[in-house]
Amino acid sequence: MSERLEGKRAVITGGGRGIGKAIALTYAQQGAQCVITSRRIEDLEATAAEAPSGTVHSIGCDVSDGDSVDAMAAFVHETLGGVDIVVNNAGIHAAGRFLDIDPETYSRLYEVNVVGIVRVSQAFLDGMIERRNGSIINIASTAGLFESPGQAPYNASKHGAVGLTRCMALELAASGVTCNAICPGFVDTPMLDGFAELVGAESDELRKQLAKRTPMGRILSPDEIANLAVYLGSDESSGMTGQTMAISNGMRMS
Ligand code: NDP
Repeated sequence: MSERLEGKRAVITGGGRGIGKAIALTYAQQGAQCVITSRRIEDLEATAAEAPSGTVHSIGCDVSDGDSVDAMAAFVHETLGGVDIVVNNAGIHAAGRFLDIDPETYSRLYEVNVVGIVRVSQAFLDGMIERRNGSIINIASTAGLFESPGQAPYNASKHGAVGLTRCMALELAASGVTCNAICPGFVDTPMLDGFAELVGAESDELRKQLAKRTPMGRILSPDEIANLAVYLGSDESSGMTGQTMAISNGMRMS
């Protein structure tokens, strides 16, 4: 059976750990050539070393910095020759009571979780539009679809990512480029350790509590998100755009 992403070239932001890492390794297994980016180079190199030789390349990039994104895009064009799939996965979290969180935290999350998508997508869209083919996949969250307790800045930024996905999809539709959002529930990644620290909980205990909030009684593995990202990056989903797909162990069915 042929691989589902054979011949595709992908950029995955936040590809050094968690969901982005799982997407990069699954994409490589499915025949894609990938560039992964994030701020921490050691994570990127470790991820690339786990992939089949020569399939995953890496470069440092801060998606909240325009010059850094431009330099990353130049490297990607040089390395891959063009891009067919952009996975906007880089993201940051914040938690706490609304009354305790300062406005600067909202700006910081918006800059990475929303404007980061804009910067990275704009850096690669010209080529996709010219070829009349491409997939943009934004990793949003169920926090972008519903309320989430104690996470107002994160929730607001992820609602922004979902709205942005729909507007991008609409404006790009005639060009043949698709844009969809994946909205995960709770996924077992280092982000949950940061969440535990923010709320003063023990990591394993927080995972147990989050699992109890889902009808399936468990949290997701990053690979489960990667499998959906394979579908959205492949030609199998060529007629789908502007959609927000929740994968959440049944939490908040819609
Ligand atoms: P992690 O914290 O494990 O990984 C986040 C990744 O984003 C890291 O590689 C990090 O690398 C990168 N990143 C953060 N800020 C920047 C930046 N300014 N520029 C470039 N890269 C950056 O999180 P997850 O894997 O869990 O999350 C991935 C995505 O999935 C995020 O958008 C998150 O909001 C979303 N999500 C996660 C859920 C979960 O339960 N885990 C649930 C729903 C959605 P570095 O710090 O080195 O830059």
